Amino acid sequence: MYVDSHCHLTHKQFAGDVESVIQRAKSAKLTRAYCTGGMLGHDQAVLKLCAKHNDFLRPVIGISPHDANRVTNEQKEMIFGLIERNRSKLAGIGEVGLDFHYFKTEEEQKKQEALFREEIELARTLDLPIVIHSRKAEEKVLDILEEVEYYNFAMHCFMVKNSAKRVIDLGGLISLPTIKSKEKKYIIKQFEADKFLCETDSPYLWQGRNEPLNVLSVYNEIAFEKGKKIEEIGETVLENVKAFFR
Ligand SMILES: [Zn+2]
Repeated sequence: MYVDSHCHLTHKQFAGDVESVIQRAKSAKLTRAYCTGGMLGHDQAVLKLCAKHNDFLRPVIGISPHDANRVTNEQKEMIFGLIERNRSKLAGIGEVGLDFHYFKTEEEQKKQEALFREEIELARTLDLPIVIHSRKAEEKVLDILEEVEYYNFAMHCFMVKNSAKRVIDLGGLISLPTIKSKEKKYIIKQFEADKFLCETDSPYLWQGRNEPLNVLSVYNEIAFEKGKKIEEIGETVLENVKAFFR
């Protein structure tokens, strides 16, 4: 009943043993993992891997803010075309958004914003949810969503306590990562589990390589903070997963 709502299993760190990584996750009672693109050149591979493991993986593809400044028009059209043609297979579009931590110039940020807006419109046209990456740009992301009135979104790896309430008020979900932090603890305490997704962002955000089965640590943390059983949290989050992803 447990789900990893965000992982990158086409990353080169999984090149040798992705099959056993998936097997381990299944053995740990995971029923699904959302394999995410958003790394330029990975979208085809994500679709292929998900087709091969369609009993367990679902694809989420898109162009991330990290690539907004290097993606060519041709590549962009190619990826948008891929999204359109595979619409019926996709669980969502992602990861998309804004990253003002790594990209500080006005020119870079403007390009990210323009791409983000295009991807929101694509999601709207195809009626797909968006998985958002945001770093040092949360309020800007939420401003844009409010301006264009698109509320079918989840904030991935989200731990910004000052923006959390606005995410929830707009109708978004908060996807909690495997990292431990005070902010994350605050968010867990502040909101009900029916506002959360749980993710690993594998292979990132772990000492050594992260993998989907580690998402159990997030479920455990929520259960601990709320004084509930992990199974109960698992059921609630599963309902969120079903309602959010296509
Ligand atoms: Zn990610």
